[in-house]
Amino acid sequence: MDFVGMEKLSLVDFDDNLTATLFMAGCPFRCPFCHNGDLVLHPEKAEPIPFEEVLTYLKKRQGVLDAVCITGGEPTLMPDLEDKIRAIRDLGYKIKLDSNGFQPHVLENLIGKGLLDYVAMDIKNCPEKYDLTIGTHVDLDLIERSIRLLMNSGIDYEFRTTTIEEFHSEEDIEKLARWIQGASRYFLQKYIDSENCIQHYFHAISPQKADRYLQIVRKYVPNAQLRGFDD
Ligand code: SF4
Repeated sequence: MDFVGMEKLSLVDFDDNLTATLFMAGCPFRCPFCHNGDLVLHPEKAEPIPFEEVLTYLKKRQGVLDAVCITGGEPTLMPDLEDKIRAIRDLGYKIKLDSNGFQPHVLENLIGKGLLDYVAMDIKNCPEKYDLTIGTHVDLDLIERSIRLLMNSGIDYEFRTTTIEEFHSEEDIEKLARWIQGASRYFLQKYIDSENCIQHYFHAISPQKADRYLQIVRKYVPNAQLRGFDD
């Protein structure tokens, strides 16, 4: 399975690292606010990039770029993800993986083999509103396993929630925060509509509401932060 997109330089994906971002197509979730609607709904239409081409670019940028972010879609669906990560790491790059957490066994395997430097996992909502928020059904035991796995893994990770006026109440945020109590890093992210979103009927929460939510979350995750609300 090939990647279907490459952002050659990103300054925002992985802390201070100069990062190239690789996209794969396909995801079992249908989050209506998803920014990669084409990759999720029509993976068959995405143009594959031969992996050799990716490696050629990364070889040219050795010593310039620091890291590669693998995102989606849902990258844990790639059958040969481990091989691809190994090939990229062999060039000296750090690896950040984005995931919705529905395949804890894949994360466990990669973490166990020391192949990941950072994982960013979405926590879409409190357990009671998970299915509503992702537009389909997921076995919450899988999400729970990924949460505990990351919290006990010893590697750097973050949890993050894209906050949507229509989906997240104060009560939901409190339940969500209690679920991930003790996490080392958590972000409440601002929702921004874009052309490629699956649906367009949603609204960002106000900066004032974001501040209130942050205070709630910090009772459980003291290091929680806002992301994207300061522009
Ligand atoms: S936001 Fe992430 S988990 Fe949701 S549909 Fe898009 S790629 Fe999948």
